Amino acid sequence: GKGRSDDDYFSSYEDVQIHRLMVGDTPRTQAYADAINKNKHLFEGKVAMDVGAGTGILSLFMAAAGAKKVYAVEASGTAALIERVARDNGFSHVIQVFHDRVENITLPGGDEEKVDVLVSEWMGFYLLHESMLNSVICARERFLADDGIMFPSEANIFACPCSLQTMYREQINFWDNVYGFNMSAVSDYALKSKLTKPEVHDVKESDLLAQPTCIKKFNLRWVTEEEIQLFSTTTFVGINRPGAYQGICLWFECSFDGRQYNEEGEELGTVVTLSTSPSSPPTHWKQTVVVFGYASENTSHQHPTTPHDKNVNTKLPTGTDKIHEEKVNICQKETTATVSNCTES
Ligand code: SAH
Repeated sequence: GKGRSDDDYFSSYEDVQIHRLMVGDTPRTQAYADAINKNKHLFEGKVAMDVGAGTGILSLFMAAAGAKKVYAVEASGTAALIERVARDNGFSHVIQVFHDRVENITLPGGDEEKVDVLVSEWMGFYLLHESMLNSVICARERFLADDGIMFPSEANIFACPCSLQTMYREQINFWDNVYGFNMSAVSDYALKSKLTKPEVHDVKESDLLAQPTCIKKFNLRWVTEEEIQLFSTTTFVGINRPGAYQGICLWFECSFDGRQYNEEGEELGTVVTLSTSPSSPPTHWKQTVVVFGYASENTSHQHPTTPHDKNVNTKLPTGTDKIHEEKVNICQKETTATVSNCTES
């Protein structure tokens, strides 16, 4: 379950537009294609599982790379499409579809049967937001062989101070003067709504005010459900570009490490990386920002700040060469961040 009921969650994946968006997200889909095709030794003659197969694209990549068997597990109604897609591509003998939650299935060989490689595209906004990683961990524990491989194999979350001038101008300060009227009551309201939950935005590389920091690394072969529920990190960041420090930008990177040594001691395979950073080609995940609340510089009106609202700063942190303390709390449902100005370097 992801907050909504399971029925609502899975029927949302019956909307073909979502699959068009994902499959048409070239950096995303190409990363999986490269990860599989440049690491064929992990798939040739092997048994693979595609957790949350959607319309079946990742299963096709694996079958075409020479997998002996691909278990395509999909809880939503698109499972029926995968049957047909497999047949239309000559893979009906390779791809076996399970129309159920991965938590509920039993493999043909029973509890003894294990898979060599588990592939899934489970990532949510800023990696963990409403993600299906819990289901992937459950599948790993039940079905992956002891020496099995997870793809992606590692996932990292990054954070960086950012300026949000465009968002402020278009969505908040827009209300300060509308047809000559002061509608700043609406700007206060608009700002407040942005403080309650992180928002998905296209952040430009030039809006980043410091060197990004990796705040969390997950090794997907071993990560536990407890480790992904909630965590906090405190980082010290030096702002090294001029601009208003208006929020923290979050994104993720996944890597597929397929390197292995064969009997002759030669290294096979490679590492493929999928990055959703502002400096990488844009993906449907964009970036996520946690907005700090304070009066913008070019507004005469001061937004009221309430001391009990932990996201609201009374003063705009500006200027380069200052060290700020960032605290980010990541949770699959609610994510917050605070910042304080510590020292001058
Ligand atoms: N692999 C496809 C789709 C990725 S979207 C692609 O890369 O294009 C994730 C898919 O996982 C959705 O279709 C969703 O319905 C499915 N899903 C999510 N949780 C699941 C679970 N517990 N068991 C089976 N399928 C699940």
